[in-house]
Amino acid sequence: MESIRDLLERRWGLDVTELSPMEGYDSTNYRVICPEESFVLKVYQYDAETYETVAAENSILHHLGNSRGQYPAVIENQDGDELIMEDQLPGQFFRLLSFLEGDFWGDRTDVSETLLSSFGRFLGRMDQQLADVKPLAICAKRIVWDLDQFLLNEALSQHITDPSDRKLVDYFFLQYKENILPQIPQLRKSIIHNDANDWNVLTLGDKVTGIIDFGDIVFSSLINELAVGLTYVLMDRNDPIKNAATVIAAYHQVMPLKEVELDILYYLIAARLCTSVCNSAKSKRDKPDSEYITVSERPAWELLKRWISISPYHASTVWRKACGYDQRRSKTSDIVATRTRNFSPALSVSYDRPIHMRSAAFQYMYDVEGNAILDGYNNIIHVGHCHPHVVAAGQRAMAQLNTNTRYHYDSLAAYSDHLLSYFPDKLNKVFFVNSGSAASDLAIRIVHAYTGRRTMAIIEHGYHGNTMASIDVSHYKYAHTGGAGKSTDVIEAVMPDQYRGSYRGADAGMLYARDFIDANSNSEIGAFIAESIIGCGGQVPLAPGYLSEMYSYIRTQGGVCIADEVQIGFGRVGTHFWGYERHGVVPDIVILGKPIGNGHPMAAVVCTAEVAEAFDNGMEFFSSFGGNPVSCAIGKAVLEVIETEDLQTHAHEVGNYLMEQCRALQSQYPAIGDVRGSGLFIGIDMVKDKLSREPNTQLAKTIKNDLRERSILVSTDGPANNVLKIKPPMCFTKENVDQLIHEFEGVLRKSIE
Ligand code: PMP
Repeated sequence: MESIRDLLERRWGLDVTELSPMEGYDSTNYRVICPEESFVLKVYQYDAETYETVAAENSILHHLGNSRGQYPAVIENQDGDELIMEDQLPGQFFRLLSFLEGDFWGDRTDVSETLLSSFGRFLGRMDQQLADVKPLAICAKRIVWDLDQFLLNEALSQHITDPSDRKLVDYFFLQYKENILPQIPQLRKSIIHNDANDWNVLTLGDKVTGIIDFGDIVFSSLINELAVGLTYVLMDRNDPIKNAATVIAAYHQVMPLKEVELDILYYLIAARLCTSVCNSAKSKRDKPDSEYITVSERPAWELLKRWISISPYHASTVWRKACGYDQRRSKTSDIVATRTRNFSPALSVSYDRPIHMRSAAFQYMYDVEGNAILDGYNNIIHVGHCHPHVVAAGQRAMAQLNTNTRYHYDSLAAYSDHLLSYFPDKLNKVFFVNSGSAASDLAIRIVHAYTGRRTMAIIEHGYHGNTMASIDVSHYKYAHTGGAGKSTDVIEAVMPDQYRGSYRGADAGMLYARDFIDANSNSEIGAFIAESIIGCGGQVPLAPGYLSEMYSYIRTQGGVCIADEVQIGFGRVGTHFWGYERHGVVPDIVILGKPIGNGHPMAAVVCTAEVAEAFDNGMEFFSSFGGNPVSCAIGKAVLEVIETEDLQTHAHEVGNYLMEQCRALQSQYPAIGDVRGSGLFIGIDMVKDKLSREPNTQLAKTIKNDLRERSILVSTDGPANNVLKIKPPMCFTKENVDQLIHEFEGVLRKSIE
């Protein structure tokens, strides 16, 4: 410290009254107080590149000038030098700047609209001035904090320890590649300050008065200036999109923005947040005990987590409007007309007011109207919409090789091993196909080959697929409007429903099974197919004891047992990975679909070696697409995400919480007859009256549609279509449950008014 004081006195002729260290990122800084004025001394480690860059920074500060004290002025020493070297202090160089007065934005608790506008204008004016300079040393800079170079940070996301935090960052890397990277060559470039954060921006009353720390200055896309500034202004704000609009409108008045710049701003803000948390994670790895890093990253994480609950289209619509640009018209009426023209009305759409979807992130879907819709329904998107690990696996595989099972390739071996590791030893053969229906169909063929029997036992209200053979075993289809009725090869079992059915209590399962056995003791059944929670039947868990009783009977009379895990498999039920495990049974054949590929069309039949052997009767089994390298890569990625994010445990915890909250509502609202299910596979049975349990189809429909208007997706099902089905992506959080319950209650209250 003494040598510094001495340096200031000797080289700048200053009479230093107080000298104290300050925060600094790439330099060591001192606050220098003299009787008349204050300064900041910056001390840099010498290398030629840093020296050149700091000299260029000085030239920029000269260009900006300091007429109103809004930028630091470079203070020459007595010899007219700006960058000073000292023989006594080797390996370093020194630079003195004027000290700017004002309150840091970060210390302000009272951020008004006027202050936000002032910030926008300030940045706009600075960028106007910066547009005229282009020092080469700055143009050559390549730093991780430059949003044009965002991908330099990609490798750092591995230091984020919580996998569900990491996936968010990886999602925005993916979105950057999709939405920003292709635009960068066309974007306006300029020198920008690039770090208008809350500890660099100075204010006085309702005005931004100055900005310090030009250490991150870069030659980059102009819009990045605003993206960086907005990132910090929006942290801890109630309405970030509106607050951003105020800043943007004010900037636009001074420095008009282009539409393309406004359209990518949402993803640029996310990119800055990701740069911040990635670098915090790296610093934390280097200094694990630093509380400072943990504290400073909190608001960045909070905003990042919140960001996916805000639609990118909402953001760009509001921001375009703030700048007076026309709104983009979504072409919903055109696509509806095309749908009507090109498709059969047999393809139904959900909700009274159908949704025109545009993109999605994990448990949110974004429609063209700018809504972020909470997905409480799509169990197919098991690990979350557009999960970056799954998308990347598919993209990589598609760019490398796509072929079929007539050849050997690594991914088929790796994926089949991985998938089969989730089954007991006995279930050790797999066939890959492309849909749950194809899996059901194949399972039925396998049964024919193995048992030589055609008769299938099924449960009422079950659904197993859309092929001829699978429709025949789907009471949900053949017994309803347009259905051809029961085939002579089919035997129906009553749905072992403990809520509406005839048996309740501990023996219910056994009693249901006994009824079936007594009525069908003369039949030769080839197979019994069942889900352990019947989705289309209204999320009805099979009564305990039912499946073991049925399995043992079916086997003794020479048939096999098929578990349909298409809806409930892969950890969804929380307590177990597969639904059948809830009943302590092991099937002979398991069919898998929906969640297996997180939306990629793939499915599988898993069975015992004995069963698979019987199927090998000389006729080749071939599926053009089943088990192709892309599907294998995607399927494996899905399993990896389930494991790294421990989604089964998560489904258990969040599912229990959801069930508790629904039961709390049930005790207040007589219209909720039953709440049932397991993990994140839940049914809410709406009734006209609790005693009679008469289904309230109309109310369920109203709730479904009203929730849709409140941007939450659920569906209805069951024989009377009165059961609300909740089966969200497995990353659904307790906060999402709170939102769902809050809106559900709002709708319920409205319905009884
Ligand atoms: N089984 C069950 C239990 C299902 O819910 C479905 C689809 N709803 C299928 C099979 C058929 O699957 P996919 O639609 O992929 O053909």
